Amino acid sequence: MTTIGFLGAGRMGAALVKTLLEADHGVHVWNRTAEKAQALAGFGAIPEPTPERAAEAAEIVIVNLLDYEASDAQLRKPAVAEALKGKLLVQLTSGSPKTARETGKWAEDHGIAYLDGAIMATPNFIGGAETVILYSGSKAHFNKHEALFKALGGKSAFVGEDFGTASALDSALLSQMWGTLFGTLQALAICRAEDIEFDTYAGFLTAAQAIIDGASQDLMERIRDGRDLGDAETLATIAAHSSAFHHLRDLVAERGLNPAFGDALGGLLETALRNGHQDDDFAVLARFMGAK
Ligand code: NAP
Repeated sequence: MTTIGFLGAGRMGAALVKTLLEADHGVHVWNRTAEKAQALAGFGAIPEPTPERAAEAAEIVIVNLLDYEASDAQLRKPAVAEALKGKLLVQLTSGSPKTARETGKWAEDHGIAYLDGAIMATPNFIGGAETVILYSGSKAHFNKHEALFKALGGKSAFVGEDFGTASALDSALLSQMWGTLFGTLQALAICRAEDIEFDTYAGFLTAAQAIIDGASQDLMERIRDGRDLGDAETLATIAAHSSAFHHLRDLVAERGLNPAFGDALGGLLETALRNGHQDDDFAVLARFMGAK
């Protein structure tokens, strides 16, 4: 079993540490507020007074602090960098692809192997068979310690040697989640304004879900294949979407609801119309998203 140095014993850190202990790994844990590291001693962890002491004792060092600013402040201390030399550093603090790449470069420059992870779960799912944690960076180190990573999340995966890929995928998947959550907020505001029971709405949403999922799948395939102009298989044109979206914005204005949802997304449809895409597929909006 592997000896691990762990920096961070917050909600997520504590769940990760407990799962590593359950998998029979030895864990030396440091936390800014020492009581939280002490509390993990009851589960078999060894609390350490400083991050360098946690790192010195270990073969692998895992970090899970609030953000990269907090993480950098610890990792870049000369004593910590020295203790990490020749070891594997696994960064499980959430960040952007840019911060992941900067930390990966810093680690390489200091003789430290690096994996940047993105946790696609809440603390209560850590250790689950279906839980996903994405890793990018050193493939050789991911392969070597795959059993350890699978103990933290059964569906964990290596996604590429570019340090930023795990974090980029995290943002992409969160975009999908927020699309749904913001859509729910807008839908319930309409229901409330129009005296429609939430349960009534939820019932029809269940019935509509197959159509929504089908349209989403069709959109992905069309963007992937570059089939964004209107054709016989187009489910609804930009003109049809714009018309329905206009009704939504009218209702929101009439009922005095917050227009943020319509304002944020309506501009994309208007841009497509201004550029003559009224008869084209919804997929044509990808042209205005700024990607390559
Ligand atoms: P949390 O419970 O607030 O824990 C934050 C941790 O960061 C604590 O150990 C805290 O130490 C430490 N910390 C904060 N500021 C610090 C500083 N300036 N210097 C040193 N240590 C500092 O947050 P969490 O939910 O565990 O989240 C931790 C990371 O996991 C974040 O990057 C988060 O985005 C990521 N994550 C969380 C979830 C989730 O569902 N919770 C899901 C996916 C990813 P103290 O105990 O001393 O305050």
